[in-house]
Amino acid sequence: MPGFELFGDEERREVNEVLETGILMRYGFDGLRKGRWKARELEQALQDKLQVKHAQLTTSGTAALSVALAILGVGAGDEVIMPTFTFVASFEAILMAGATPVLVDIDDSLTLDPAAVETAITPRTKVVMPVHMCGAMADLDPLRTICERHNLYLLEDACQAFAGTYHGQYLGTIGHAGCFSFDFVKTITCGEGGAVVTNDDDLARKADYFADHGHTHEGTDRGAEDHPFMGYNFRISELNAAVGLAQIRRIDEFLQIQRRHKSILKKALAEIPEITFRRLPDEAGDSATFLSFFLPSAEAANRTVEAFREAGIDAFWNYYENNWHYVRKWEHLKDAKTLYPLAPDVLTGLRTLKEKRFDQSDHYISRNISCLIKLSWTEDEVRARAHKMVEAVRKALAKTNT
Ligand SMILES: *Cc1c(COP(=O)(O)O)cnc(C)c1O
Repeated sequence: MPGFELFGDEERREVNEVLETGILMRYGFDGLRKGRWKARELEQALQDKLQVKHAQLTTSGTAALSVALAILGVGAGDEVIMPTFTFVASFEAILMAGATPVLVDIDDSLTLDPAAVETAITPRTKVVMPVHMCGAMADLDPLRTICERHNLYLLEDACQAFAGTYHGQYLGTIGHAGCFSFDFVKTITCGEGGAVVTNDDDLARKADYFADHGHTHEGTDRGAEDHPFMGYNFRISELNAAVGLAQIRRIDEFLQIQRRHKSILKKALAEIPEITFRRLPDEAGDSATFLSFFLPSAEAANRTVEAFREAGIDAFWNYYENNWHYVRKWEHLKDAKTLYPLAPDVLTGLRTLKEKRFDQSDHYISRNISCLIKLSWTEDEVRARAHKMVEAVRKALAKTNT
């Protein structure tokens, strides 16, 4: 990750095909587009790759979450369970739907703790939204069981885990619906883009309409199309879809490179007994976009961050200090800083969040370091990096012990 590192001639060729016709919109203009339907082709490619019945492209991963929540019927009075460790898009989409985000602890998988989900369920809960963070899967079996028992929807945020799997099934295709992001720094990119996938025909039809103002896409006269319900505009452009089309053809190559690089780094760090790795509920399905590990204490993690910086190692994060991915620094959410009034029940939910402690999440996130796995490294660079990382961690641990 990210796919933009290997942007090249194929991407340029696909975009040029769109530029040649000048038809930048995904719908209509049949006579002028010379048979070029990039968004439609990318949706088909997603369905083929992910072995899922329906894929609906959107303008972003955040938009995909908004569409997914809408088609699941989430709105006023509803609660959506989400993890404390994710990207801010999770609660943004829930609030946009008029619903209340209910934040729940993560465990050593860096994803939703099923036990914590169970205790957070109320009569208002409608959706459980696990986020497959840093390239790998949440504990989907227990989460699915909980959803079945309580009659809830399971919505997978697979924005960071494209082409990862869980017991042989692609992430995003296991719940009632799943979301992907193809923004500039994701596994494959459209520049900006996203997708909702589902095996449910009715949800798919709703997504198709909702992402385009309610248009039914029947017939050849847009003005004459029916609008069975209200929608919005989350349409991807043909230019963005064209980039994604070139990228998705290379996904197997991307994963192969990531897995090779990751295994070199992981093997090297495994020599240090104080290091433990993030638990992967199905290691074979890891998309290997990140290597995430734990130090024995927050102090050791901080010292490791310092030592990595001194050694010139880049592209790693301790998310405890990050403004965008962990609840600790989401003051704007906890203080309900919106540009517009929120519904009273949503405000009550956010007030509760402000008081809430997440000791279990702190326990994991404060000791965690996640390293991005780049596609553009040479094998020599990966080996040199592994060596530097091991040296730096040893140095940090020696300082921590004294
Ligand atoms: C990137 C990301 C999103 C949002 O995707 P955009 O395309 O940037 O809007 C949502 N959830 C997670 C977990 C992400 O990493």
